[in-house]
Amino acid sequence: MPTARCMRCRTQVEIKDPQEIVLKNNLRSLKGVCPNCGTKVSRILGKATGAKSSAKSA
Ligand SMILES: [Zn+2]
Repeated sequence: MPTARCMRCRTQVEIKDPQEIVLKNNLRSLKGVCPNCGTKVSRILGKATGAKSSAKSA
């Protein structure tokens, strides 16, 4: 099970109902809830794969 730091429990907890999402800045993130208190927790996984590096397109 993936883990994330819960702000409320102030400890590392397992992510309940984890969902992988991609943020605007092309970072993959795992989102879910804390099994202890139900607070939303998230964890950054890293850069999204498959996207070609498009540097400075201005
Ligand atoms: Zn918690």
